[in-house]
Amino acid sequence: MNVADSYRVAAALEDLDYTPTNLPEQADVIVLNTCVVRESAEQKAIGRLTSLKPLKLKNPDLVINLMGCLVGVQDYSELRQQFPYVDVFSQPSDPRPLISHLLGKNVSSSKHQQISEVFDSDFAYKIPTTKENNLVTAFLPIVFGCSHSCSYCIIPLRRGKEISRPYDEIISDAIALADSGVKEITLLGQIVDRYGQDQPNYLRLSTLLREIHKIEGIQRIRFLTSHPIWMTADIIETVSNLPKVMPHFDLPIQAGDDTVLRNMRRGYSVDQYIKIIENIRKHLQDVSISTDIIVGFPGESKTQFNRSVNLLKSIRPDLTHVARYSPRPGTHSAEKLIDDVSHEEKMRRFRIIEKLQEQISSEINRKYLGREVMVLFEGKSKERWRGRTPTNKLVFVDSRTNLLGRICSVKITWTGPWSMIGEIQSTSG
Ligand code: SAM
Repeated sequence: MNVADSYRVAAALEDLDYTPTNLPEQADVIVLNTCVVRESAEQKAIGRLTSLKPLKLKNPDLVINLMGCLVGVQDYSELRQQFPYVDVFSQPSDPRPLISHLLGKNVSSSKHQQISEVFDSDFAYKIPTTKENNLVTAFLPIVFGCSHSCSYCIIPLRRGKEISRPYDEIISDAIALADSGVKEITLLGQIVDRYGQDQPNYLRLSTLLREIHKIEGIQRIRFLTSHPIWMTADIIETVSNLPKVMPHFDLPIQAGDDTVLRNMRRGYSVDQYIKIIENIRKHLQDVSISTDIIVGFPGESKTQFNRSVNLLKSIRPDLTHVARYSPRPGTHSAEKLIDDVSHEEKMRRFRIIEKLQEQISSEINRKYLGREVMVLFEGKSKERWRGRTPTNKLVFVDSRTNLLGRICSVKITWTGPWSMIGEIQSTSG
């Protein structure tokens, strides 16, 4: 979501004739887009912000814009006091305070500005033209904010309540992206499968997928991230029926124990989660699934943690994003529960899951050896072309041909847990 938001700002800056630089000392404007989902991310953002102070002292004309979840949607007067050298504060997804500042208008992001006002603005989700290597794939937010209240999660507090974007705005952004050469669109939302549920007259995600499927030029569609409660049979069937919608699901479980899930306020049981995975695999033979796990949630015993391990062993996801529980200010778990799993124990659990997932991913990927898969090439890493299979596996190939934006048949010759290497067989796009 932050990548999409950053591109949105970059595209708006391009419209004002700004060009990018890799050197902060050369910049007239620096936008720091921030994430605070875990404390480590927040510390990193504050570190970067502090490192910008000498630049501002040297060049008082430099415009520094702090954006995103560190600012949030609440009162940020404390931040203003703490970082007086920041010129502009912007809420997540909102480029307008910066643009107004640069245009010299006296309009700043007011304390309780509704994020919905963003929809009235002219700032579409486009890709800055200077990001040519990324023209192949683009993120397109369709739901802002989140109205779930998982007990550990700060996102609803910082991104505000859930608001689905109007359907025609999304379609016109998607058409514009296709016109600018984008081949793959990833629809984004904190709970993307809830698209439209907050608005009585809106279409649902499955209808939106069908409509985007009709757009010429768009060859692949993905969506992330899902929530088990909202992953309906309708969405699963739609994915299995639409060839351009890629067979990949990002479905966080968070814990393999029902008591922990209840304490996390997730709203489903382990059994319900397993049934969804079974349904996905029943409808789609060649499908990949990734999940999220938090280790060391308050009160999580070793036995409860072992249930997360056993769950992963039985569902065998293609990827697990594992995180150590981090108490976040204002959340239920930080205010009411004791963070009683030690740092060392969280680290131990983290490593167990990492190691297990590495083994599972290696075994799953090994089955690709000798197979031919269709790869959409997104760019180059060092000398090799880099692309993804429909199942979202990273593939590298050596080729002198310009493969950017092309979908090619690739024979897999080497596999590892996180990537594969292959040889081009034929190109179709
Ligand atoms: N749709 C997703 C879901 O069902 O939860 C939402 C993804 S969430 C915004 C991003 C991930 O960050 C979560 O899945 C969770 O694993 C992790 N996360 C959120 N809050 C956290 C915290 N306080 N400590 C550690 N990890 C956290």
